[in-house]
Amino acid sequence: MSNFQSSRFAGLTAYVPGEQPRDRRYIKLNTNESPYPPSEGVLKAAAEAARSLNLYCDPTALRLRRAAAEVYGVTEDMVLPVNGSDEILNLAFMAFCDRGTPVAYPETSYGFYPVLADLHGIIKREIPLKSDFSVDFHDYLGINCTVVIANPNAPTGMALGPDSVERIVEANPGNVVVIDEAYVDFGAESAVSLTKKYENLLVTRTFSKSHSLAGARLGFGIGDKGLIADLAAIKDSTNPYNVNAMTQMAGIAAFEDNGYYMENCRRVARTREDTAERLRELGFEVTPSKANFLFVRHPEISGGELYEKLREKNILVRHFSKKSIADYNRITVGAPDEMEALITAAGEILAGAGGKSDAKE
Ligand code: PMP
Repeated sequence: MSNFQSSRFAGLTAYVPGEQPRDRRYIKLNTNESPYPPSEGVLKAAAEAARSLNLYCDPTALRLRRAAAEVYGVTEDMVLPVNGSDEILNLAFMAFCDRGTPVAYPETSYGFYPVLADLHGIIKREIPLKSDFSVDFHDYLGINCTVVIANPNAPTGMALGPDSVERIVEANPGNVVVIDEAYVDFGAESAVSLTKKYENLLVTRTFSKSHSLAGARLGFGIGDKGLIADLAAIKDSTNPYNVNAMTQMAGIAAFEDNGYYMENCRRVARTREDTAERLRELGFEVTPSKANFLFVRHPEISGGELYEKLREKNILVRHFSKKSIADYNRITVGAPDEMEALITAAGEILAGAGGKSDAKE
């Protein structure tokens, strides 16, 4: 830290992304990327767009908005493309929360929400999950502040049904409800159609997981045109060319190839169910995930130790130090052969673990 930093940011705790190590080859099950490559159409479109990188991209991303609007069944003024959905979350915290007033979100959820709240001086209202890790929608009815809920939630993978989401939106007409649907394509139900009915609902999406474009950075905000105009004004005041030319073209091609991606999501969902069953056979507790990851713990080994032992076997998973979930690991659902390697490694580790207390010796 220098002597020049604004006092506004003194004490800021930055978000720590999952590791992206380059030291050796890992089976990477730690940041919920797709195990499947982008479609041929996307590769061609990105290469073609690279030819014009001397020119600025379209700051309104009009063609991409049109493609998104068609697939999401909304109008193009209801869509804002962004540089990964982290950007739309940041814009939403800026646009719809005031300094010193609260934003409510589940206490165990995506770690970026508290970071953004602190960054913008917004009071955090962290609402505990139920003991089974589910979100109780009753907690958010008439809560009288901006609400942010990941659905499915992370890192549990557990989803709220569309009726519960609608109840929350309906019960907070004076505040924006943000539903972060980063993982919705793997088996939960989307609230996008409700954006036509409720002017206070913002749905956020990402192409990082379901559409194999984590490295391209592409996400979307979908909501009433008033909300989108508010968000676009901040986008244009901070980074007007937020989605680069290659990513815009890749995104359009990905919408054209949507069938390929939805089939990949179904493959991931099948692998998730197979893996969950096999982990349960090994004695793991597994939350009922609708996402492309599993949230698991084992009575005989601590979360931290399992993480370390898998890492020694070149398998990366995600362990969170937060006390309430420190027993758990979040495991991305990869390709079937990757999950086979995970099951084998977990079996070997457990065979050598001999119980939590022994493991510490
Ligand atoms: N929301 C949730 C719940 C996430 O887990 C992530 C991924 N870290 C994001 C949003 C952001 O994803 P991206 O910025 O890659 O679109």
